[in-house]
Amino acid sequence: MYTSFFDVFSIGIGPSSSHTMGPMRAAARFVEELRKSGRLEKVASVKVFLYGSLALTGEGHGTPSAVVYGLLGEDAETIDLGRNFIRELQVSNCLLLGGIHPIDFNMARDISLEKEMTLPQHANGMRFLALDAQGDILADEVFFSIGGGAVRRADEIDEMPEEPQPVPYSFRTCAELVDICRRERMTIAAVVRVNEGTLRPVPVVNSRVRLVWQTMQQAVDRGIATTGILPGGLKLSRRAPQIYRRLEEKFHNNDVDALTIIDWINLWAFAVAEENAAGGRVVTAPTMGSAGVIPAVMRYYDRFGCKESPYSRETGASVFLLTASAICSLYRANASISGAEVGCQGEVGVACSMAAAGLAAAMGGTIEQIENAAEIAMEHNLGLTCDPVCGLVQVPCIERNAIGAVKAVNAARLALRGDGSHYVSLDSVIATMDETGRALAAGYRETALAGLAKNALTC
Ligand code: SF4
Repeated sequence: MYTSFFDVFSIGIGPSSSHTMGPMRAAARFVEELRKSGRLEKVASVKVFLYGSLALTGEGHGTPSAVVYGLLGEDAETIDLGRNFIRELQVSNCLLLGGIHPIDFNMARDISLEKEMTLPQHANGMRFLALDAQGDILADEVFFSIGGGAVRRADEIDEMPEEPQPVPYSFRTCAELVDICRRERMTIAAVVRVNEGTLRPVPVVNSRVRLVWQTMQQAVDRGIATTGILPGGLKLSRRAPQIYRRLEEKFHNNDVDALTIIDWINLWAFAVAEENAAGGRVVTAPTMGSAGVIPAVMRYYDRFGCKESPYSRETGASVFLLTASAICSLYRANASISGAEVGCQGEVGVACSMAAAGLAAAMGGTIEQIENAAEIAMEHNLGLTCDPVCGLVQVPCIERNAIGAVKAVNAARLALRGDGSHYVSLDSVIATMDETGRALAAGYRETALAGLAKNALTC
């Protein structure tokens, strides 16, 4: 089952793809269905119920605000981040449904966090009710945020088509992907490029790949330049600007040691992860919580790696992203990228695996070396729990992005120093990751009820 590049890498707002972007998209879709069916103008009130992980960590992840953005008909990629929609709503108690139809709406009254209840189909459930002036129900829909910003309505979650997007080179497992590459004498990036070219015009695909790369790099640059305290109860200061200043000083004083490169990778990952924590514009890679890993490894490639690469800078960046997209497709088909389902293995673990494969490919690695890089990266993230302190995507998430980025570089380098032969296949590691994640107690799967969230601090 192939997942398109356009679904793997979405541009949106932090701090969480499953808890911010997914609920925003679900709310927007609910409103759009009301509009299409001619019921929008009859709506007098809307009630929203958040279940499971969305209820338990929704406040820290900005879920209620995201629901409001979606009800307003805003899009995560284009929403004006300079405008304070929530303040406007709090002052007026008037929400323009779909941007056109005014209703009375109070966030505290109309969005309920149902902390005691998890819907059986998925840990991230939401119910939207639209009522008319007499209190009669106009629409009642349940949606699930299944990871990476993707959303399914209740009737779709069990009936996902085997191949939602027919493509010439469909693959579900890494073994199938490797077979295609060997048979057709194509790289992984070329397979993805051909598939994408059948889904959309090639210039659209090319400009999307460039836009994803640019958006990631803009997030790095903004994160380095922005000081201040991150939102939420932890009152954490942004660290990226301070790390950057120290690195610049060391550079100008000729005080550079052999491991300074690790400081740079940490800096780039911190910059994006802090932007995400502050609700800034980042790219799901594969999620918002793990959005710092791939940009940091790509900046490493751009600054240090590409000198030894067979590709030009721009081509190398595109090979990196297209390869990473194929690896994400494997995790989506055979496991999960949702922290609420499989813990942080599915977020920073998958990001690390994608980044390792992308870097190995951009450095000219063989198909076997690329698989090996992705496999090493996940093998050493197995069992990684999701236990965000105070339900905020900050501790351990920001540092975890940095550790994941450094680990990805190491995994790629290990793979590139070998001949590609390896004992454990990527498919075996993905199956193990999925089994391990589902065996984790619920407290370690984005509920903020156990682990660091329980023992580290009180909120
Ligand atoms: S611990 Fe990992 S999975 Fe959980 S919120 Fe943080 S980044 Fe996401």
